[in-house]
Amino acid sequence: MEERIQAILKERFGRDLDNCTKSEIFEALMVITKQEMAGRKRNTGNKKLYYISAEFLIGKLLSNNLINLGMYEEVEKALAAHGRELTEIEEMEMEPSLGNGGLGRLAACFLDSIATLGLPGDGIGLNYHFGLFRQLLVDHKQKEVKNPWITNESWLVRQPVSFAVPYKNFTMHSTLYDIDVPGYNNGCNRLHLFDVDTVDESIVPSDSINFDKHQIQKNLTLFLYPDDSDRAGQLLRIYQQYFMVSNGAQFILMECEQKGYDLHKLYDHVVIQINDTHPSMVIPELIRLLQERGFTMQEAIDVVSKTCAYTNHTILAEALEKWPIDYLEEVVPHLMPIIHELDAQAKKKYKDEKVAIIDKDQRVHMAHMDIHYGFSVNGVAALHTEILKNSELKPFYDIYPEKFNNKTNGITFRRWLLHCNRELAQYIESLIGPGFKKDADELEKLLKYKDNKKVLAKLEEIKHNRKLDLKQFLYETQNIALDENSIIDVQIKRLHEYKRQQMNALYAIYKYMDIKSGNKPKTPITMVFGAKAAPAYIIAKDIIHLILCLQELIDNDPEVSPYFKVIMLENYNVSKAAKVIPAADISEQISLASKEASGTGNMKFMLNGALTLGTEDGANVEIGDLVGKENIYIFGKKPQDVIDLYADAAYCSKDIYDEDPEIAKLVDFIVSDELLAIGDKVCLERLYKEILNKDWFMTLLDLKEYIKTKERVYKDYENKDAWNKKCLINIAKAGFFSSDRTIAQYNEDIWHLA
Ligand SMILES: *Cc1c(COP(=O)(O)O)cnc(C)c1O
Repeated sequence: MEERIQAILKERFGRDLDNCTKSEIFEALMVITKQEMAGRKRNTGNKKLYYISAEFLIGKLLSNNLINLGMYEEVEKALAAHGRELTEIEEMEMEPSLGNGGLGRLAACFLDSIATLGLPGDGIGLNYHFGLFRQLLVDHKQKEVKNPWITNESWLVRQPVSFAVPYKNFTMHSTLYDIDVPGYNNGCNRLHLFDVDTVDESIVPSDSINFDKHQIQKNLTLFLYPDDSDRAGQLLRIYQQYFMVSNGAQFILMECEQKGYDLHKLYDHVVIQINDTHPSMVIPELIRLLQERGFTMQEAIDVVSKTCAYTNHTILAEALEKWPIDYLEEVVPHLMPIIHELDAQAKKKYKDEKVAIIDKDQRVHMAHMDIHYGFSVNGVAALHTEILKNSELKPFYDIYPEKFNNKTNGITFRRWLLHCNRELAQYIESLIGPGFKKDADELEKLLKYKDNKKVLAKLEEIKHNRKLDLKQFLYETQNIALDENSIIDVQIKRLHEYKRQQMNALYAIYKYMDIKSGNKPKTPITMVFGAKAAPAYIIAKDIIHLILCLQELIDNDPEVSPYFKVIMLENYNVSKAAKVIPAADISEQISLASKEASGTGNMKFMLNGALTLGTEDGANVEIGDLVGKENIYIFGKKPQDVIDLYADAAYCSKDIYDEDPEIAKLVDFIVSDELLAIGDKVCLERLYKEILNKDWFMTLLDLKEYIKTKERVYKDYENKDAWNKKCLINIAKAGFFSSDRTIAQYNEDIWHLA
């Protein structure tokens, strides 16, 4: 390996391991890894999965690829012989910015597991040049700038493949870039990212995310989720979605035709998993393409209906896409006869307006099309699937009970344990052997050590080491001083009111006041937040503003700062998650019950020995069932209570505020003189009024119980033996949340890949 690295350094830069830069080493390792993947076997078979998704939040790839290829130790050794550290080299990689949150990260974990299980399955998506956006924290506010992540030498490999994608007034020609996805000790699959050569990065200034939304040829693949608060923005999203699915569908048919498959039996050779509704237009597009190949409309509909499966990721009504017919007419008029036919057939069979594809306001419900014309509908955690069946999608469940199934989300343990916490992984291996790396259920073998003082002390020591790593990282990246002896209490996830970062911020206010009044915590507390807010989501940005103001208030208060700290991470992404999660003691999963479909952050924390403080929501429920009540902290109203409150319109935050002076005191602090002296009056007052008068996601409903439970968690932390035992049990029970298990279930119940 050493010679191989040296040879490339010499050839490319005329240098060697002793005098080259870190980025030169990075480039050399990337080249070697790419060569290696190109030579690996492909996962093949008679039936192949295509996972279509607007997002693939894959994170940095170097280390994970080396781990999966079985080359990590070898490379580490070769570098160490010249005083070079692989962990420093991996910092040189730009993180691909191809996703937003959990849904995109799930797609990435799935690609890893599909390849690891040796299944033939590729991802299909778009190659966004500036990704979502990069978040800067300036003047206590989020500022969005473009996030160029594609470097000269990159994981993207341009392919000699191009398709014509027809729009109403013009045709665009795609280019295809592939990223190899190596399985862990297994063959490779691919992520296919479509792009256009005409895209023009220069139309976006370096310090913003603004651009002319009308210039489709130039802007099509610039951003993931471009602002859609106006008509031009919504049209652009339709242009993007159609580009993704038309290329995907043409690619799938090309592969089938190359293999000589009978397209009338497409479903014997292909399964398309539609990840949320962004790729839903693949259904009419495939029908159109099959008609071009001589199918009648009905033949095409029948074949496609047996080929496509849909995953639902949310019950938030505003997130289920509904495109106005005139917008679709404007972009993809050639799909409209097909969509009208699909709608007519559904309406003929089912009179209920609630299951119509086209509603009376002339909007196309993408999810409804998926459910009628897909053969499988799955939710992403047990509770979520039950809510789909019994409330959100009940009219569909009544028609098609056989289509509904649950696939509880998972995470790849290669990234979220073996890579992000190598010391823990190695220690676990020393206790129970290496089997857990392929069969995550073997982690249960750890249970026999649950009362072993030496093992528990070692787990504590490893946690402390990760806190030291995080301390160094935060110092270098944000000039923040972390107390490695503090309790690290973390909430990192997209910013959304349903996830209730604002409730955690109200807790910070409570703690601040409590310490001011003389109650000093035994162990100092560090609250860590990390979150991007959608650029047009005003209240979410106000919540970030509140957190940043609190951070400053507390930092500058010598009475409080030795005991309590609030930290907002800048630009939360996969690499930051990998730094923070292993250092965490407490995992905040406090969404309003019934609103979080699954969560996957909760699983990463559990696997790294942090305890969940959460509501009865998403996969928290399954975590609780596995670890038992003593090893998780659950609080708050139950999902059905919340569903009933919405149904009866019975929640009024102002009543809670008026009746409880302790709550009122916390909420009022948002517009206190102290905070107004630091922050922006408009933002703080807007947030204050929102919580007081609307509070759509019921922050005040659970606030009291949240504070009480959190105090109990902090108290329990003081008994280190008992705490460490809980951590061990959480790690031991995390095996169920391996995405290898999730993917095995998708294959068993939905895909049937041969
Ligand atoms: C895991 C992950 C998420 C999802 O977190 P949730 O807490 O489940 O919402 C979002 N973003 C990144 C970068 C992640 O790694």
